[in-house]
Formats: sequence, structure tokens, C-alpha cells
Amino acid sequence: MGRLGLLLALAFAVLGTVPATQPARASSGPPVVYFSATGHHLAEPFLSFWRGHGGLRIFGYPISEAHEREGMLVQYFERARMEAPRTCAAVTDCPVQLTRVGALLSAERREPAFAPLVLDPSPPDTPLRRYFPETGHTLAYGFLRYWLRNGALTVFGYPISEEFREIDPETGYTFTVQYFERARFEWHPEALGTLWEVQLGRLGAALATRDGVDTAPVPRQHGVPDYDPSLFPRAFRLPVLMYHDVGEPAGRYRIPLWRLEQQLDWLFAKGYVTVSLEQAYEALLADGPLPERAVVITFDDGSRSQLAAARALATRNMTATFFVVPGRSALGPAELRELRSMGHEIGSHSMTHRMMTRLADRDVHWEAEASRRVLQEWLGEPIRFFAYPGGDWNGRVAVIVSTTGYQGGLAAWGGARWTRERRWAEPRIEIGGTISLDRFAWYVERF
Ligand SMILES: [Zn+2]
Repeated sequence: MGRLGLLLALAFAVLGTVPATQPARASSGPPVVYFSATGHHLAEPFLSFWRGHGGLRIFGYPISEAHEREGMLVQYFERARMEAPRTCAAVTDCPVQLTRVGALLSAERREPAFAPLVLDPSPPDTPLRRYFPETGHTLAYGFLRYWLRNGALTVFGYPISEEFREIDPETGYTFTVQYFERARFEWHPEALGTLWEVQLGRLGAALATRDGVDTAPVPRQHGVPDYDPSLFPRAFRLPVLMYHDVGEPAGRYRIPLWRLEQQLDWLFAKGYVTVSLEQAYEALLADGPLPERAVVITFDDGSRSQLAAARALATRNMTATFFVVPGRSALGPAELRELRSMGHEIGSHSMTHRMMTRLADRDVHWEAEASRRVLQEWLGEPIRFFAYPGGDWNGRVAVIVSTTGYQGGLAAWGGARWTRERRWAEPRIEIGGTISLDRFAWYVERF
């Protein structure tokens, strides 16, 4: 990215002139793209739906062309089938629905897990467990979190079973799974806190086999480009809340635990869903899913008191990103592993917390690169995001940080509008320790 883009982003940030919008839906990119991996095209109206509801990670590649079947326009994907009225071919803004592949493929199942539970009266929703009287099934913990973060009712539909253990027909391994109207969730504890803690069954492929659909690759139509997310514009409003220390007395950089918990309860009551920065950047750069009411919670500097916040989040099925200064923050390898075991995300906040615009190029490089390396050694996994100490960055610093192995960088101010141009200094909102709940709500909803 050019320096001009960064400077423009800075200007927008200062002036606050960019209007807020919700995640991009319609596109001004090409009306049809091609996937070399499977040899199929993806055109409207399915292209916009695919991009707007999760893209490759949720639906997989197209494995057929769009075609007419049972009086509808349909197209098969690895993990889904899309359908639209017959007259919708090549039409944007046509109503698209997902076939109830999970229900179709499990219709003969008679195991106890598929039997509806009649709970009358319905137990109240909690952050950790929800009962759906529509189908008589519950959704809890990691599966509930994944469902909320990646498409909920629109994409997956209601649960049609409880959790149970099942042998995966593809791999032969036994997993904890749950069936939904349009999906099969498979729990992967080794990937806890990443985008892959739940993996989706290849139900679209299974339905294509059952329906005898031709999935053979077809030659690319003349002039159709390969799918690439960068062919399409993408920008959205996403509040990223920035906290520091937790405890008393309250101050700009210290929030009492009770006040933080009040804010978390407000977020839950308003239907907000925490997402990781990994998911936010996937949404920005790769057409990944983002809930309408997404929020990212971050903590800087790695004080010990943040462990209490981490637990308060975990009891609400929420996760946060902790930016630490390895070797200087109180949170060391053992504490960071504990945070990971709760599903939280770890980012780097440099080696020494010096203001980076005042450093020489090689020192900027070292602050970013060495801290990433140390954290990766501690945790044995990639560290993807960097937060500038003191929110201090400029075009030179951002360009250097972008060469040190991260996926993105976070500023400490600038509103809530995410754009690709701001990838190395996406905005955050500072939440001081003394603000009222009304003020907090204003930041989340309007700032
Ligand atoms: Zn800091």
C-alpha cells in the first residue's frame, strides 16, 4: 500500500468525514468470476450472496454451474446449495435462499440427539446457552459462539440436534458435532479461538452426490476473471474497543471490573457479538463473514489485572485480543497460554513500548519483528496483529511494520470505519475507566 493511502486515511481519521455504512453487500466488481480450483463460475444473484454471507470459509467453492432444477435456479457449493427464483439468472438483488441441506440429509436419523426436547416454559437465554422452541434443541458454548459469529439463522438455520459424538464420514475420526437446518458443525478444540475451532461438513457435496449433479469442471467463459476478493470494494463500520488496566481507582487507563462487566452485559443485551481481529481482517480482505452487530474488544499493555477481565468475558462467551509487550508485560507465557485456553487472541505491542515515530527505521523493524518472534516462540502459533504503542504511527512506521510478518496493525483512535487502505492502522475507540454507560453506548453505536 502506498504512503498516500495512509496519509489519506490519517486525514479521514482526523476529520471524521467518512460516512458509516454496514458491511458491503452489492458490488461494483465483475458480475461473474471463475474458480480454477473446481472449474466453475459464480455469477449473480449467488455471487453477492456468497460474498455477503461468508465466502469461501463458510460455503466453500462452487462445485456446479448455476442451473435449473425443481423449477428453481440452484447452484451447489462444497458446504451449501443456493436457490433463487428461476427468473433470477444474472440478476443482482434477487432473493437468494440456502437449501436446508442439514435437514434433508439427516431426515432418516433416529438417534436420541435428534429427538426434540420439549421444555415448557422455555428457559431464558444466557450468553452460554440458548434453547430454540422452534425445533426443540439447545445451542451452547463454542457452537453457540461460532453460530453467532458466522451467520446465525440466515446461514445455518436452527439446531436440529443436540451435540453428540459422531464419526466423520470423510476422515474416519470421531468428533463432537451438531446438526443445523443448513449445516453440520464439527468441534476442533486444537483450533480453539481461531476461525477453525468449528469446521463445517461438506453437505453441499453430499447433496450433489445424492442428486446426481454433474460436478465436472467446465472451461472458463471468455473474459471471466479468477475470483479474487480485491476485485470488489469492501468497507464497514466496526467498533474496536481499547482498554488498558482493570481495577480501582478508576482513571483514564484503569476501569473497575464492575463497570467493565456492566458494559459487557449491555453488549449482550443489545445483541452485540464479539469477534477476533482474525475474523475482522478476514472480513476486510477475504470476504469473510461479519455479524451485523460485531464488536472487537482489545486490552493493551498486558497487566495482570486483565486476567479478571478475561474470565469475565469467558463467562459471557465473549473473547478479546490482548496486546502485550513480551518480557515487560506482567502477562508471561503461562498467563498467555491461559488466555488462549479461554479462546482469547494475543497480539504484539512491541518490545519496549517506545513511541515508534521517533525511532530509526531499523529500530521500528526490530520492535515489530522481535516481539512477534518471541510471542510465537512462547505460544507456538502465529501472531497476526500489532498495536502501535501509544497509538503512535505514521506512514513510514506503518510501511516498515507491514514488512515484518503481520496481517494488520491497529491505531488507538480514528473512529470505527474499517477500509482496506487503513489495513496497517485500523481505528480503535479508547474506553476510559470513568465513562458512563450512556457514553459507552454512544461510542459503540454512533462514534
Ligand atoms: Zn500501550
